[in-house]
Amino acid sequence: MSPSSRPRMNSGQLPGLYLHVPFCRSKCFYCDFYSVASPAAIPRWLQAVRAEMDLYREKFPRFDTLYLGGGTPSILDEADLAALFESIFDRFAFHPDSEISMEANPESLTPGKLKTLRSFGLNRISLGVQSLDEADLRFLGRRHSPGQALRAIEACRSAGLANLGVDLIYGLETGSLKSWKKTLDTVLEYRPEHISCYQLTFETGTALWKMRRAGRVRSMDEKMQAAFFIWTSRYLERRGYRHYEVSNFAAGSEFMCRHNLKYWRHVAYLGLGPSAHSLRGAPPCAKRWWNVKSVRDYCRMLAEGKPPLAGSELLSRDQFDLEALDLGLRTCEGVDMSILDEFPQSRKVLEQLQKSGLIRVDEGRARLTRKGFLVADSLAVMLGG
Ligand code: SF4
Repeated sequence: MSPSSRPRMNSGQLPGLYLHVPFCRSKCFYCDFYSVASPAAIPRWLQAVRAEMDLYREKFPRFDTLYLGGGTPSILDEADLAALFESIFDRFAFHPDSEISMEANPESLTPGKLKTLRSFGLNRISLGVQSLDEADLRFLGRRHSPGQALRAIEACRSAGLANLGVDLIYGLETGSLKSWKKTLDTVLEYRPEHISCYQLTFETGTALWKMRRAGRVRSMDEKMQAAFFIWTSRYLERRGYRHYEVSNFAAGSEFMCRHNLKYWRHVAYLGLGPSAHSLRGAPPCAKRWWNVKSVRDYCRMLAEGKPPLAGSELLSRDQFDLEALDLGLRTCEGVDMSILDEFPQSRKVLEQLQKSGLIRVDEGRARLTRKGFLVADSLAVMLGG
């Protein structure tokens, strides 16, 4: 296949808009997302976000997903949430059937905020429950109790939300399969449309990482982690959830997170706010850029009329396609094998994975098997060779 006839992975779809709300009440012990505990900076940040939107309103006129992530977007009060949504919808157009999504934490999601959010068309929430075990929540440095998490789920339903995602963490060294099953079973009683199950990781620099370095906590051993992963996948699939991405399950294809699918499908997205990343175009003009990881610098640069950039890169066609391959394999959609025509080395790796039962090939598409999902995080390095 000639380079010009290679599949364009990101054509024909509207981009998604991501907005990073970089505020949290305190830092969870495992978290390495960019956030600060400085609510006094919220008004300045809001002003700066509006200025950043103005930089892009001509270049990105229309989206079909909006995702408010963080940080803790639900930390904003009702007036700030309303002001933020008004600013977005004043400047950008959205397809009428857009997914409007927000991350929320149980302790700060109130019925009043839900009402405000719903009035702006919010139709999906990703709720950071993490665990329904009191000791696990304390271990993770979360601020909510199991009871608050359940009340927040109920509040979402009372507000008429028909697309609720519950985020969970497993793989604590102290966690037993019994307590993980209990959390899952309680969550399943509410039939959330989406469940994310993240394996606990010890990211460099986090409080948990420091505790492990000091010998105060340990990670779960790899065999056990793999056993939890496979068990969780089977358990949720038996209960009608589709394991559509390494860490994500949906109660039907209509509930797969459309915004996150854009990342995995390598579709364009605009990221606003400190530390946000953006991707636009296709090779030879595919470009990625990312913002500074500092609320102070972000606000200062925008006040000076400058884009708050920390860096940018043009992606070569090979780089773009290899990324698409790696990202595509994270989902149940897999990738079209024809993309491998240009990458004999990657084809060899995939054939090896197929022989080991980690990849299945059907009708010209390669997909990771359940066991294959376990190696998804190492794929980029393997395929890059
Ligand atoms: S609430 Fe979320 S973003 Fe904030 S510290 Fe905890 S995990 Fe990180």
